[in-house]
Amino acid sequence: MAAPSALPTTYSTLSHLECSRDGSRHDADVVQGTSPAGAPLLARYDLERAAATVSPADIATRAPDLWRYHELLPVRDPAHVVTLGEGMTPLLDLPRAGARLGVPGLRMKDEGLVPTGAFKARGAAVGISRAAELGVRAVAMPTNGNAGAAWASYAARAGMGSLIAMPVDAPEITRRECVVAGAELYLVDGLIGDAGKLVADAVRRRTGYQDTSTLREPYRIEGKKTMGYEIVEQLGWRAPDVILYPTGGGVGIIAIHKALQEMRELGWLTGPMPRLVAVQADGCAPIVDAFDAGLSESTAPADAHTIAFGITVPKALGDFLVLDAVRDTGGTAIAVSDDELLAAQHTLARDEGTWICPEGGACVAAVGQLRESGWLDGSEDVVVLNTGTGLIYPDTVAVDVPTLPVDGRIPGGDDA
Ligand SMILES: *Cc1c(COP(=O)(O)O)cnc(C)c1O
Repeated sequence: MAAPSALPTTYSTLSHLECSRDGSRHDADVVQGTSPAGAPLLARYDLERAAATVSPADIATRAPDLWRYHELLPVRDPAHVVTLGEGMTPLLDLPRAGARLGVPGLRMKDEGLVPTGAFKARGAAVGISRAAELGVRAVAMPTNGNAGAAWASYAARAGMGSLIAMPVDAPEITRRECVVAGAELYLVDGLIGDAGKLVADAVRRRTGYQDTSTLREPYRIEGKKTMGYEIVEQLGWRAPDVILYPTGGGVGIIAIHKALQEMRELGWLTGPMPRLVAVQADGCAPIVDAFDAGLSESTAPADAHTIAFGITVPKALGDFLVLDAVRDTGGTAIAVSDDELLAAQHTLARDEGTWICPEGGACVAAVGQLRESGWLDGSEDVVVLNTGTGLIYPDTVAVDVPTLPVDGRIPGGDDA
């Protein structure tokens, strides 16, 4: 190994792309989709060089956004970074919720505070930056709403075009986010897979568009993996015992697993891996079904439906990677009902003052179930991911309050 001083400083240590199925090596410096085997491509870095170039102490001095990990991100030239200030979201203690659930060491990584209101901004920031660096002029993708809103916004920031297709049932605010950012938007009377077919067909006919569907381009996962780096950095370069993640396409949980593996190789993290838990909703739980059946791939459920719209993904391209992340870490997969996840969302807002998205509510509900079943014994450090703000889903809260006339009176007080 060369002495560290002999190495030139480098913004990114990206070396190549690797097929997640057969390990074959592919060029990272041209626009890529999936591997020839049809599987997601994973970005690989020269981690030896990264470890010699940067340390956790160096990172501590950098700006509080996800680009603080730039050696482990794919953008080679800082001039190509497209940012709206994403990353370094709070890792909140949840003392009242933790006491209620019997897990005093409960924390929440709150992704409601990123641009566009959902953690999709991380994948979009890195994906769009790298696309811009490789000369892409427009991106096209199907979405359950939040990813489209994020990619449309970052595309606008990059001066790039965007073509987005989403189910008519996707959260309405995300349509408006796409429109205001100038996206070419289509609503589809179906599920995300139906939107994906329409987009794939359009990309075939149009020139200059990159298909940036979930796991069909390699860099969204790189943006999302920074959640894993941040959790570990925020705990003082220590991993929690358990991380729960609301799993749709699975990018986030695959990405957190990848981050943990990288940090171990870098020597920044020692000890056992946190157990990763894939949380889904009863109405769409293909990963949970496959996990319970001991299978390495999932089967799409009939009639997928849940109010946690971001996790309505009947068949994920990376399902085998999600199952691998869960099994490799000694984790589990669990589904909760819509009633349970909404109740958890409401209770958390009253306990802790934070209005989380229904997907985040699913994770909080899952903590309760895993504690009841004994899978959690209550002594663990547990981190739940809240993947977006409740503000995106205003209809999850009913408001039934009196309207007063201007000469009316608010009840209470002594002089009744
Ligand atoms: C997309 C989304 C998810 C699921 O994310 P994956 O990483 O694709 O599994 C969860 N929650 C919200 C709010 C989302 O928008």
